[in-house]
Amino acid sequence: MKLPKIVLLGPPGAGKGTQGSLISEYFGIAHITTGNALRINRDLETELGTPGSFIDRGELVPDSIVNEIVEVEIKKASGFVLDGYPRNRKQAEYLSTISEIDKIIYLDVASEELIKRLSGRRVCSSCGENYHIEFRPPKKNGKCDLCSSELVQRSDDQEETILNRLRVFSEHTEPVLEYYINREGFVRIEGRDNPEDVWESIRKIFEEG
Ligand code: AMP
Repeated sequence: MKLPKIVLLGPPGAGKGTQGSLISEYFGIAHITTGNALRINRDLETELGTPGSFIDRGELVPDSIVNEIVEVEIKKASGFVLDGYPRNRKQAEYLSTISEIDKIIYLDVASEELIKRLSGRRVCSSCGENYHIEFRPPKKNGKCDLCSSELVQRSDDQEETILNRLRVFSEHTEPVLEYYINREGFVRIEGRDNPEDVWESIRKIFEEG
């Protein structure tokens, strides 16, 4: 079977990480997450500054840095789900020069819901597991259920940075939707539901072919 090449689009907090992991497990394909790759390399010195300096302001990291990361990862994989890329039209055009894409899945969630999700999100400082103070609290306050390490708030999940990330999404990433919307393989999924139901909707799309 030919392994699929999938782009997962959606605003910050739409659940791309969760659904990206489920898709990658289901097909046995690579989960390429630019946000994680950039956080790991946050202190990398480049001519344009460190990735961390952009992340902390909620701004996009320059295309040249991100494109290179994605190209290396795509070349290694025969099937993949891209999570958090492309984030602007230039990246979408660049992607079209390095790979074909079979499906573009857009997780649609309203802004008020995103702010609630992002401001309550907590992440394990050691294994990266995600929690939410209201919707998915850990069993023991402030500690990871899996490895007992301390839970922290991502530096870009502070209210002011969240608002900037949402502004950056509507300014830069909405044009990516316009770029893909009339292409074969584009699907919009209601992302407001709980993660199990969202996954069910995505799985159905693949089963229907
Ligand atoms: P995420 O974890 O996907 O919400 O990404 C966190 C941050 O990483 C974003 O707010 C950006 O600063 C940066 N980032 C992630 N993906 C990209 C991308 N494709 N282009 C530029 N910056 C990105």
